[in-house]
Amino acid sequence: MTNSAVKTLSQLANHEEFIQRHIGPDAAETAAMLSELGVDSMETLIAQTVPAGIRLPKPLATGPAMTEADALAKLKQVASKNKMFKSYIGMGYHPTLTPNVILRNVLENPGWYTAYTPYQPEIAQGRLESLLNFQQLTLDLTGMELASASLLDEATAAAEAMALAKRVTKSKSNLYFISDDVHPQTIDVVKTRAEMFGFDVVVGKAAEADAHDVFGALLQYPSTNGDIRNDSALIAALQAKKAIVAVATDPMALMLLKAPGQLGADVVLGSAQRFGVPMAYGGPHAAFFATRDAYKRSMPGRIIGVSKDRRGNSALRMAMQTREQHIRREKANSNICTAQVLLANIASFYAVYHGPQGLKNIAERIHRSADIFAAGLTAKNVAVVNGHWFDTITFNVANRAEVINRALAAGVNLRTDMADVLAVSFHEATSKADIAELFDIVLGSGHGLTVEALDAAIVSEGSQSIPADLVRTDSVLGHPVFNQYHSETEMLRYIKKLENKDLALNHSMISLGSCTMKLNATAEMIPITWPEFASLHPFVPRDQADGYYEMINELGDWLINITGYDNISMQPNSGAQGEYAGMVAIRKYHESRGEGHRNICLIPVSAHGTNPATAAMTSYDVVLVDCDKSGNIDMADLKAKAAEVGDRLAAIMVTYPSTHGVFEESIRELCDIIHSYGGQVYMDGANMNAQVGLTSPGFIGSDVSHLNLHKTFCIPHGGGGPGMGPIGVKSHLAPFLPNHAVVGIEGTGRNNGAVSAAPFGSAGILPISWMYIAMMGGEGLKLATEYAILNANYMAKKLDPLFPVLYRGTNGRVAHECIIDIRPLKEASGITEMDIAKRLMDFGYHSPTMSFPVAGTLMIEPTESESKAELDKFIEAMSTIRTEIAKVEAGEWTVDNNPLAYAPHTMEDIFDPAWDRAYERQYAAFPAKYVAENKFWPTVTRIDDVYGDRNLICSCPSPEAYR
Ligand SMILES: *Cc1c(COP(=O)(O)O)cnc(C)c1O
Repeated sequence: MTNSAVKTLSQLANHEEFIQRHIGPDAAETAAMLSELGVDSMETLIAQTVPAGIRLPKPLATGPAMTEADALAKLKQVASKNKMFKSYIGMGYHPTLTPNVILRNVLENPGWYTAYTPYQPEIAQGRLESLLNFQQLTLDLTGMELASASLLDEATAAAEAMALAKRVTKSKSNLYFISDDVHPQTIDVVKTRAEMFGFDVVVGKAAEADAHDVFGALLQYPSTNGDIRNDSALIAALQAKKAIVAVATDPMALMLLKAPGQLGADVVLGSAQRFGVPMAYGGPHAAFFATRDAYKRSMPGRIIGVSKDRRGNSALRMAMQTREQHIRREKANSNICTAQVLLANIASFYAVYHGPQGLKNIAERIHRSADIFAAGLTAKNVAVVNGHWFDTITFNVANRAEVINRALAAGVNLRTDMADVLAVSFHEATSKADIAELFDIVLGSGHGLTVEALDAAIVSEGSQSIPADLVRTDSVLGHPVFNQYHSETEMLRYIKKLENKDLALNHSMISLGSCTMKLNATAEMIPITWPEFASLHPFVPRDQADGYYEMINELGDWLINITGYDNISMQPNSGAQGEYAGMVAIRKYHESRGEGHRNICLIPVSAHGTNPATAAMTSYDVVLVDCDKSGNIDMADLKAKAAEVGDRLAAIMVTYPSTHGVFEESIRELCDIIHSYGGQVYMDGANMNAQVGLTSPGFIGSDVSHLNLHKTFCIPHGGGGPGMGPIGVKSHLAPFLPNHAVVGIEGTGRNNGAVSAAPFGSAGILPISWMYIAMMGGEGLKLATEYAILNANYMAKKLDPLFPVLYRGTNGRVAHECIIDIRPLKEASGITEMDIAKRLMDFGYHSPTMSFPVAGTLMIEPTESESKAELDKFIEAMSTIRTEIAKVEAGEWTVDNNPLAYAPHTMEDIFDPAWDRAYERQYAAFPAKYVAENKFWPTVTRIDDVYGDRNLICSCPSPEAYR
């Protein structure tokens, strides 16, 4: 029997294709949208949008699309090539036990991982509370006055401490001291940063630090080999010479050790990884950073502060330097934007769950393991090198190679990178059997030691392995939040309570221009918690990471194909970090050609704030280039500025399509002009979602770009991080890509410094982008770009009659985002873009990007993942808001008594018996029909920003406030 209507097996298989799950609009919606735009096909729309001269001549070569099941099976096979050894390497990375209640309900929960940075605090009180807990945890452990929410990793936090030291010191010195017993990767990153700033560095014995006249110093406590020193006299001596002293430390050790703040440190920093965050071959992990209150205006990164809302309720927000790069540009304290929020939250939940007793117990268990191990070695005449320790024992054996081989044969990694000695770092998951196994490895069989006997001896004789004057005596984590959620039921509900306060992608579209909040598919997320990826230490021997190398190389090849570059570095762990790595490569390239005098970076006025902040990090002077009336780079001004700076031109930093959401026709000409003066083109790749498969930075003619894998390539934003910012480069820049002091990176200069602590940045989340590209295939990726453009143009078309679209390309099209202008309405009615942003919350929407790149505007980027149905709901909300503004314009409502001025409305607000508004309660809370069936309730009303900055409180409210 034959029947042509019956499908073949492969035709039937199309139903499992991922592409149609990733892309929002179906065939009928697509047809309706194209017809709304008056075009006959997608190709016509793209031809009207993307300049013909930059269209790629051939399709992407990333391979055919795989189904979810096939891609997962393939990646599992790759992952299985990683060897899961027991790692005692330490060096700032330790095995940890992620409490399952946190694993499933935070790390694996889209309610937490798909949220955005909390710039709209009224719908972000959950993660803001959790970040405040992180700050409180940091304050308690470090003994400092002020803590920030999170930084990228320990090594970059140390580099930030050096930059802070230079900002606040009264010393005239240009010299920075680094103790030689700081972790090697930290020294590496700080040295690179110092070179770029033009600081001199001396690495030496801590005891000799005050022999130098320095503006700052970096010490580590406990040191990289495990020793614990009381550096208080040294710190005082350095401070007497006006140096600012930073101390890198370990939060678990601080459960038992005197706080560095009590030793006099000016800055205390470290990694919160071992508080429940998997090692993941190097990250993502959150760094913590604390300093004196006096330096609060010089802090890098975000600080969460307590303020109050319109009703006087306590409410949280990002304090002070919110978006500081957009305001202070090249004078910003740092270029840090995306910064590990999800991981900071996991670490703070870990502390909430275990509480002070639980954490102390964990720390004591780790410490006891180290004591037992040291006692055993000493009993067998193996010399322990460090006189004191918390968790790390460095020791000397005559038969070093034999011991290493025995370890590897047993599936165990010792620390082997130090000359002559070996080291072992104990951790939360170490068992008695593990210690016994380590004795067998180090001493050979027949040593006769038993863990029980050694333990009993320590219990009866006591331990002096922590110096008496450095034993922690004060109690920590007394705040109620660390003392009431210790049963799993309580913990589960606390996590859920916070989650409910936050609006994330699992509720509605988050159309943040420039930020590309697209689908973070479940299949993409699944591999990151596979132990084959999650459990690897970043410094394991190369042959244990074959799976990682294969995955990273394949992803790298795909990204090279997509960007049109020749090489890629996976080291930068955020977009801004990628900008920095790219600018470092440019500077080193110029220097290598004897053109180190080039020191000017051109930046269009419309640039993202991280661009000028980054240029400043490579000591480049920023010269601004104007934009014309239609938002394009003013080419006449560009030519004039380039000619003016001439052979001092180092680079231009340009975003494409522009931050104005337009494909500029002149981009190739721009690249040619810059090159003709010997400059390099840095193309900010944040807007790659409008390029993939249609054009590419390399094809257009730029030299280097970062990719925000957490934008275009589906890594979720995590509420403000993690992210990844790998950089693609043309071959002439490849020799200047970052290397790594511990894990050499093939194909780049041996002496190149590192920009991040780990060789491949936050390698643990790269499987997300791998899965995305594998499941989309070349054709699917191109289709995603086309749909991103279709959705943005549909949005622009529908909104323009209500709120004028500010900039368009030559054929009247926008790229993948559009800016709507609120300024005329503001003038006419007094209603601001802020009021609109807050009123959208009543509809269950997160505001589009507010006032970037143009003040008084909203920038909307729907992405390809949103259906027409969802776009129409948002358009309905904006249309209703426009009607509300009209009523204010008409005088029907006054400017301060209308639903926009009072937005957002909380339940408490709506049910307040004293209702004196010019509008109905029902309408306030349910302004559109669709709202009622899926109402999102903001938990605080409009937050007072000014009050929060005037009365800066960055710790949890005092326990008394709870009684
Ligand atoms: C997001 C963004 C950046 C910074 O990236 P992070 O990962 O947040 O550091 C830089 N430039 C543009 C245009 C961006 O949108």
